[in-house]
Amino acid sequence: MRIAIPKETHPGENRIPLTPADAKKLVRAGAELVIEAGMGKGSGFCDDEYIEAGASVSANRNTLLGEADIILRLRKPPLEDIGKLKRGAIHISYLDPFNEHALVNAFRDAGITSISMEMIPRTTRSQKMDALSSQANLAGYVMVIQAAMHLPRIFPMMMTPAGTLKPANVFVIGAGVAGLQAIATAKRLGAKVTAFDTRPVVAEQVKSLGAKFLAIDLGETGETAGGYAKELTPEQVEIQRQAQKDIIAKSDVVITTAQVFGRKPPVLVTKDMVEGMSPGSVIVDMAAETGGNVEGSVPNKTVNVNGVTIIGLGNLAGEVARDASQMYSSNLYSLVDDSWDEEKKELVIDLKHDILPGCIITHGGEVINETIKNVLEGGA
Ligand code: NAD
Repeated sequence: MRIAIPKETHPGENRIPLTPADAKKLVRAGAELVIEAGMGKGSGFCDDEYIEAGASVSANRNTLLGEADIILRLRKPPLEDIGKLKRGAIHISYLDPFNEHALVNAFRDAGITSISMEMIPRTTRSQKMDALSSQANLAGYVMVIQAAMHLPRIFPMMMTPAGTLKPANVFVIGAGVAGLQAIATAKRLGAKVTAFDTRPVVAEQVKSLGAKFLAIDLGETGETAGGYAKELTPEQVEIQRQAQKDIIAKSDVVITTAQVFGRKPPVLVTKDMVEGMSPGSVIVDMAAETGGNVEGSVPNKTVNVNGVTIIGLGNLAGEVARDASQMYSSNLYSLVDDSWDEEKKELVIDLKHDILPGCIITHGGEVINETIKNVLEGGA
């Protein structure tokens, strides 16, 4: 099977889909691997490393896409790339299928099997393929580093002959993968950390990292069978906002990572709460690009509101592109490897597989993913 890896085209994206080390594994498995010239450059890998791994390099993107049986990439493809693909080809990348309806329809009409990295079920067996987790983990780390760089104070307590500096107070809203890593990183830097999440099951995890869990009685919250948070009612959101107001005002750093899968993130830090913070404090809004947890955050910008810095950086994992690429590449390789037939030397699409059906969006000219089908038909 011919596997093609085109260059990422999104402006400023330095992450890449496949490292030379994983390229070598695919070649060993019997794949014919072709990369677009310069594909690895953003993360510091040169074409020669891929040639050494057994891949070939093509400078002709259209031929590369047109002849591929499998296309591996990181970001969703530009719509115009879909028409260049062979009918029956398999395309694996992030796809943002909840929002990218035209893209999903184009995949369907072109007869492409499209696999969405976001939709890989969060099971124990699929952990090694879980790009949402690998990238969110790095995002959690980057948010704390960004906050530390902008805060005019240090994180740890420091007792010196010139006086004692108190540790910084950090409040983390949302303690999923990114939030837990943010908590761990802020603790390592010596901050005093408090966190809140609507899923009560998270409290123990927060405490095990040495942070405090803010108790807020929201009534029934719970989580979905897939482990995701359920959307709060407007009344619950208001209770949460009021209960967090005090701690936000006293925090040097607020990091927001609250997401509800497939929905717009809730606004949890309102304008008046930002105004209640001391000048010099920093907020990092992980959700800025998708609507924002914080009123006043601007996607991909750092803004100053009454002396409070609000960071809305979108591609957080991209700030540590080399490690992010290594992890994404490993996720992608594991997904392909899991369905690779060693004798036929090809990727087998088995619709009875335990993981694939959850993340295949289109196949055989149909949208086969029930959740996305429902969204397209306006049912969710
Ligand atoms: P996510 O990005 O969808 O959400 C981030 C966090 O925001 C979640 O913890 C969620 O509960 C929280 N949140 C939502 N609304 C909130 C609100 N109003 N206030 C505060 N917090 C709010 O989630 P994620 O980080 O991708 O992970 C979701 C879950 O999936 C976690 O339980 C995680 O441990 C689990 N998971 C399991 C596996 C696995 O078993 N293989 C892998 C990864 C994640």
